[in-house]
Amino acid sequence: MEPNVPSEDGQKGPPKNNPSIVHFFIIGIVVTFVINMAVTNMRTDRKVQIEYGQFIQLVEDGAVKQVRIETEQIALTLTEGANQDRVAQILQSNPETSHSLGSLVYYTGRLDDPGLTQRLIDKGVAFYKPIIQSNPILDFISSWVFPLLIFYVVYYFITRNFSKHLGGGIGGMMNVGKSKAKYYDMKKNTGVSFNDVAGQDEAKESLTELVDFLHSPERYREIGAKQPKGALLVGPPGTGKTLLAKAVAGEAKVPFFSLSGSEFVEMFVGVGASRVRDLFAEAAKHAPCIIFIDEIDAIGKSRDNHLGGNDEREQTLNQLLAEMDGFDSSKGVLILAATNRPEILDKALLRPGRFDRRIVVETPDLPGREAILAVHAKKVILGPDVKLREISLATSGATGADLANMVNEAALRAVRLGRTEVLQEDLMEAVEVVIAGKEKKDRILNPQEKRMVAFHETGHALASALQSDRRSPDVSPVQKITIVPRTMGALGYTMNMPEEERYLMTRSELLARITTLLAGRAAEEIEFGEVSTGAANDIERATKLARSMVTQYGMSDKFGMMALESVQNPYLDGRSISLVSEATGADVDKEVARILDECHQKALTLLRQNQEKLAEIAAFLIERETISGIQFMEILRGRKTA
Ligand code: ADP
Repeated sequence: MEPNVPSEDGQKGPPKNNPSIVHFFIIGIVVTFVINMAVTNMRTDRKVQIEYGQFIQLVEDGAVKQVRIETEQIALTLTEGANQDRVAQILQSNPETSHSLGSLVYYTGRLDDPGLTQRLIDKGVAFYKPIIQSNPILDFISSWVFPLLIFYVVYYFITRNFSKHLGGGIGGMMNVGKSKAKYYDMKKNTGVSFNDVAGQDEAKESLTELVDFLHSPERYREIGAKQPKGALLVGPPGTGKTLLAKAVAGEAKVPFFSLSGSEFVEMFVGVGASRVRDLFAEAAKHAPCIIFIDEIDAIGKSRDNHLGGNDEREQTLNQLLAEMDGFDSSKGVLILAATNRPEILDKALLRPGRFDRRIVVETPDLPGREAILAVHAKKVILGPDVKLREISLATSGATGADLANMVNEAALRAVRLGRTEVLQEDLMEAVEVVIAGKEKKDRILNPQEKRMVAFHETGHALASALQSDRRSPDVSPVQKITIVPRTMGALGYTMNMPEEERYLMTRSELLARITTLLAGRAAEEIEFGEVSTGAANDIERATKLARSMVTQYGMSDKFGMMALESVQNPYLDGRSISLVSEATGADVDKEVARILDECHQKALTLLRQNQEKLAEIAAFLIERETISGIQFMEILRGRKTA
């Protein structure tokens, strides 16, 4: 039984008039009625009324075994061995007995027949009068009052759970749609300004106009311009979408309503829609203001691409669309929404007049990362040796949230080591913690494992150095090589030293990268004539790169510039789906395998040509466990190292 969700009007009445309880009882009465009917039907189904004369005849014939004499009627049971034909003959005139004689219960109306008792005694029929008569009052209670009572108890428990769940009052269910337990967060002043958002200059530029609109709507009104109603912030998680929305509110000095798309959607159909209504009503009271809906894809998912449908979500979305159309933008309510899956949003949401602006918030580039680090570094005390540029170089691909986290990790490390300021080494260690996890000091590798890991990592570093086309051959392509195990599963790793931000990669650079990835495994083969499980992650990454070369970058001779895969959700994991037939798919696999094999052979050749250096560096690494890029280059160039 699904209780009804009250309408807005109903919520305002006292509990007595609450339509939900009335609905509940109407449903209860209908259900009880249906059940009673069914039970009565079942009872009468097997009962057949016969004439009094037929009853007497059956008794005379000796076909009756037992008789129950009630106030109004006489029920009879036939003897098991009764002559069926004879019974049928007697009852011939009765249309109800024309089918299945045996399973029926016969009864007849009770007449004033003083001779009946004697007749029954004569024929040896057992007869009795039941002492407990059916009581109409009891009947009424059992078939009406009792079931309704059960309904009430169920209703009571459901509403009580609701009021607990939502922190509402006795009304419970009344409050579902308009719960005072806040599903949104309202801040009079967010205290965030554009200065707190580093990088993201393009996004800020687009948003500045919106700030101006909130500041002085009349300027737009005067000239007859319609103000934008909403903007959609699109980008990967942690790039600062929420922060930007808060900054817009902070800059415009207006209240900020924020909530997550998933908070609209409740168990009952209609709640989300009512919440949307409520939210807009509340926002209108505080205008000018900003409504920020995070994860809008939770309600804004396209309505046509799923089976079965989801009524609640659709109703919520429809209500949102209706509210966005309905409210007067000149009042100064601005809706900002964030998503990292813009491609699944319903087209209706994106049309002009709703979220007509799309602001892309990308992962920060090199200067962006440096600026973000600077913003967060302001909150901690930095030592004199800190060079944020180096950190930003080492953190290509990190989002604002990652960088904020790194600065905090560094500060925690400094405190742990009893320092009063954050040094460069704290920051570098924090970068590694975020990339590879914490050092796992208690994991002891046995000497053979340690050698294997050392050769594996040296293989990567050596291949990378040997293929490096940097102008100065003495500059190390790696920053650090270590064989100290980390919590995120790495037994050792080689940290590359990016010199500058790269936006494009050439085919030969990609091949060199795949060769470097496979060089770890190649080193194991050369030194031990045996391979280990340590290369799993390298192989995965190399395969991904090779596959992208073939399917997306048009870098294979075999397929040329044919798009074989398309990337699905670029702001999340960037999963790609195949666009080709199975037969072509098999060819793609072969092509990928060919590229990997070529790179593997190249790695083997490179390392074989430098086998002595490989052994020398690996031995040094086993001894020291962690070596720097400088030490690595010194051995490689044949200079002595400390
Ligand atoms: P999103 O909403 O895109 O998932 P958030 O806005 O919640 O990301 O960002 C999380 C945190 O990351 C912020 O509170 C902030 O500390 C940090 N951050 C992200 N981007 C930036 C940025 N551009 N400048 C400064 N801090 C940032």
